[in-house]
Parts: sequence; C-alpha cells; structure tokens
Amino acid sequence: MNNREAADLYRSIGVSPIVNAAGPISVYGGGKSRPEVIEAVAAAARVPVHLHDLNLRAGEAIAAMTGAEAAFVSSGAAGGLVLQAAACIAGGDEDRMRRLPDSSGMKNEIVIQRCQRFSYIQSYRVGGGRLVEAGGAEGCSTAQLEDAFSDHTAAAAYLFAAHSSKNAVPFDEFRGAARSHGVPVIVDAANFLPPRANIRRILDAGADMVVFSGGKAVRGPQGAGILLGRADLIAAARANASPYTFVARSMKVSKEEIIGLVAAIRLFLDEDEQAQNARYAQMCRRAVDALVEIPGVSVSMEHDEIDYLIPTVAIRFGEDWRGPSQDEIRSILAEGDPPVFLRGLGGPREIGIDPMNLDDDTLDVTIRRVREALLSQPS
Ligand SMILES: *Cc1c(COP(=O)(O)O)cnc(C)c1O
Repeated sequence: MNNREAADLYRSIGVSPIVNAAGPISVYGGGKSRPEVIEAVAAAARVPVHLHDLNLRAGEAIAAMTGAEAAFVSSGAAGGLVLQAAACIAGGDEDRMRRLPDSSGMKNEIVIQRCQRFSYIQSYRVGGGRLVEAGGAEGCSTAQLEDAFSDHTAAAAYLFAAHSSKNAVPFDEFRGAARSHGVPVIVDAANFLPPRANIRRILDAGADMVVFSGGKAVRGPQGAGILLGRADLIAAARANASPYTFVARSMKVSKEEIIGLVAAIRLFLDEDEQAQNARYAQMCRRAVDALVEIPGVSVSMEHDEIDYLIPTVAIRFGEDWRGPSQDEIRSILAEGDPPVFLRGLGGPREIGIDPMNLDDDTLDVTIRRVREALLSQPS
C-alpha cells in the first residue's frame, strides 16, 4: 500500500490526513513510525507468543540496549506513569494491587514540585497516588521540598521536559532529599529524547524509574512507552500491568507493539544523531530562507542542545507586526487543505515548525502555507 492508498484508508471514513509540523505530538498522530517498525509489527501479528514471556524478554533486551538495570514496555509514557505510581504504592503485593486505584491505608503520597506540575500527572492518581505539591508556581526551594515529605510519602516525581528544571530544585538535590526520606525518585522524561545521551544521564543521576515515549522521537509504535529502572520496581510495575488483571489491565500493550518498540529502540540508538540533526537543520534553513524576508516577523533556526535537540524553526512576531495573530494563523492553517499544524513554542507571539515528521514534500507544503497565512490580511 503506498502513501496515497494509506491516506485513502482514512478518507474512506471521512478523516482528512494532515501535515504535522508540530513534532511528535500525540494529537497530531505522534512520531512517524519507522518502516522497519511497521514491518516488525506486521510480522509479530502472525505468531502467537506467551505475553509473560514476551514482557520479560523484551524488558531484558531493552535493558541491555539502554544500560538500565531493568525495563518494561508500558502503554505509552502515560501508562508508564501509572505503573510508576502503582509499583511504588502497591509493589507486587496482591492484596494491594487488587485494591488500586484505592490506596487508602497505604503509603500513597507522591511529592511533586508545583512548578513542575504537568498535564499528565493524573496518571499518577490512576496508579493510586495522592499528589503533594512542594513550593509554588514560581519555583521551589529546598526547604519547601523538605516540607512536602511525610510518613505517607511513597515516591517523589520529577519532570524532565523543555525548560522544566528552570525554577525547580535541581535533580541531584531532589534525589538527595528523596533518598534521605527513603523513597524512590520517579521521572517523566517522555519527550526528552533526543539527545540519546539523556537515557544514561537520567539513570546515572540516580532516577529509580524513568519513562520515555516509544511513539515520539524513538519512532516506535504510537501506543508504546519505555519504562526503565531498578529491577525490583520494574518487577512490581510488570506485576501491576496487563495481561495481569490489576490496575493497568486497561492499558494493554499488544505483542505487536512490544516487538515494534524493541525494533524501534535498536534503530534509534544506532542512528547517527549528528547526521540526523544536520538533515533537520538543512530542512529548517530551507524554511528560514523562504520566510525570513516577510516584514514584521523574525524567523530563525533554534537548536537547544539541552532541552530539545531537534532543530526547529521559530517564527516570532515583532512589535510592529500588523498581520494575523498567532491564533488566526493557526486557524488559517488548520482549515486549509491539507490542514497544517505547527509547533507551539510557549509564548503568544511565537510559533514553530518542527521538521521531525516532515519530508521534502510536506515541508514544501508547510512553507507555502505558512507564507500565505503570514501574508494574508487579518480579519
Ligand atoms: C508526551 C508526553 C507524555 C505522554 O506520552 P505518551 O507516550 O503519549 O503516553 C507524558 N509526559 C510528557 C511530559 C509528555 O511530553
């Protein structure tokens, strides 16, 4: 089936394919699966295997590739957060596992810095967690973090995402505080790849468990997540997960996704990161060159090697910008044919083009449509 036929599959039920210049965002279809992953998924579907065996062996294979003590394939990174909480609260104790998400009477508090609150933390509650926030929206001090721990603390959660550590207690100190209270540090780093080095960096810094998305830059199956960490905690996570009928049974990961993810991680780790970035940078420069002379906006390539390694085009509206607003541009692009979606950069007067999910053709479409939108008359 070629790309046109694939698109027709969606059209046959009335769904228009889109151009995703937003990066590996789930709502726009996530990361583009690797061709080899699609093949592995199709092949795995033909052969039955025992899921307990597969879960265990896939975990061993991923641990060996990443250097983690142990690993488990979760249902997305979000499913991995549920398992992090369940593992820290119920462990592998059957009576407790059966009671989740009701964790009353168990140590169930998860300390999180308020300035690191993110939209996925409900997953911790699904796993039985009761969130205890440290500090304020503006930041967190060591003393405020200390105050959040109690006799009921089960774990301390840290977020690694673009700029998420800025006003937060630094990870080393955070881990030290958790250690002194005898609780594990659980990390969400779902979208913190590349750089590939982040896998080792976070484990070496002492995270007890960390989760990455399998369906973002790793380009594995959209529904898969990579949970890494301490062997005892990973064993507990596995005990709470499908195909066992405990809290994460509704977050099933299929044998096809598991095999697809193993293939994806191997390919991801083997990729030449610099060559890949050079290619992305070349795509970005093409967009910059085509948009840079539009008056009133500044267009540049950004490449933040710490927070988000993939080069991105940033379009910023200056003081004298009289064209359509960011929201108007978004709707013009979303309502056109094909619909085009750009990457938010955080502010109301800036918007980005992420090359990750684009090829030469869709990059051209994006450039043309963004140009038209920028030059259109505001309504
Ligand atoms: C994308 C993301 C998730 C969810 O990942 P899935 O693999 O889609 O479940 C969780 N946390 C953060 C910070 C993310 O960016």
